[in-house]
Amino acid sequence: MKNEVLVRVKDLKMHFPIRAGVLNRVVGAVKAVDGVTFDILKGETLGLVGESGCGKTTAGRAILHLYRPTAGEVAFRGVDLAKESPEYVRRARRHMQMIFQDPYASLNPQMRVGEIIGRPLRVHGLVKDAQEEKHLVTELMQKVGLNTSYRDRYPHEFSGGQRQRIGIARALATSPDFIVCDEAISALDVSIQAQIINLLEQLRDDLGLTYLFIAHDLGMVRYISTRVGVMYLGKMMELTSSDELYDDPLHPYTKALLSAIPIPDPPLERQRQRMLLEGDLPSPSNPPAGCRFSSRCPLATEHCRAVEPKFREVTTRHWVACHLV
Ligand code: SF4
Repeated sequence: MKNEVLVRVKDLKMHFPIRAGVLNRVVGAVKAVDGVTFDILKGETLGLVGESGCGKTTAGRAILHLYRPTAGEVAFRGVDLAKESPEYVRRARRHMQMIFQDPYASLNPQMRVGEIIGRPLRVHGLVKDAQEEKHLVTELMQKVGLNTSYRDRYPHEFSGGQRQRIGIARALATSPDFIVCDEAISALDVSIQAQIINLLEQLRDDLGLTYLFIAHDLGMVRYISTRVGVMYLGKMMELTSSDELYDDPLHPYTKALLSAIPIPDPPLERQRQRMLLEGDLPSPSNPPAGCRFSSRCPLATEHCRAVEPKFREVTTRHWVACHLV
């Protein structure tokens, strides 16, 4: 992995208006992402974790320019697409793809697998005729471990893991550099999850891909991620290398998430001290003042409830937003 920045996210905000009344007036905003800053380096897998509703999926979509940011900047290879023409954005999209959580919902049930995988090739004008398309679809199916004789089958004829492979082949069709994997393995059985993780790693290494790997639990991202970012209520709480995050977590929220992962060693599991998260995630339309985590943090002080902690680099390449660190 080089230290070349592929995606730069700077103070990104994605607010969605809340409307009410007969006049449909704006009465507030859901602050799904509320000022996050991070880089994604070429060749790395950046894991992005947090509870459902923390803004990680919205951040992933804003990075792909599926949403126009409310404020801030998302630059891909140094270019902020929000400032470019629709034609430039359309061409750039070819290099950025997404793999979805539920492959079945994202695959057209009336299209054959060969057509599904071949469609992006046609949309982006990457093939000159049907024969070339067929050849490339065969290659893509082989790359993701799908039997090429199944190209005329429909999505419902495949298992969950195979459907995710179809989704991966479709994402690879345009030869992207960057892929957002949005809860891409969450809906799969544990044994199938491992197979898909292995496949994604192998593709990353063979094709020089970069991933943003979004997941709701830290256990899932540990093995595939180079670095991991932890989000809470639209803010980044901690970001560091995968090893450092698991061995030496600094933020109370990260510690709580890690302590929810069972250790597969009964004596160790009995000995360790758990840090339980109490209460539900507050509403992103009305987040707590000061530190976003203060309403659930066992270490919160008056200062935490009044002043928002800065997201700062506390040791080399280890970023944390907490007054007590
Ligand atoms: Fe907890 Fe305070 Fe740190 Fe927030 S700033 S995580 S409330 S100790």
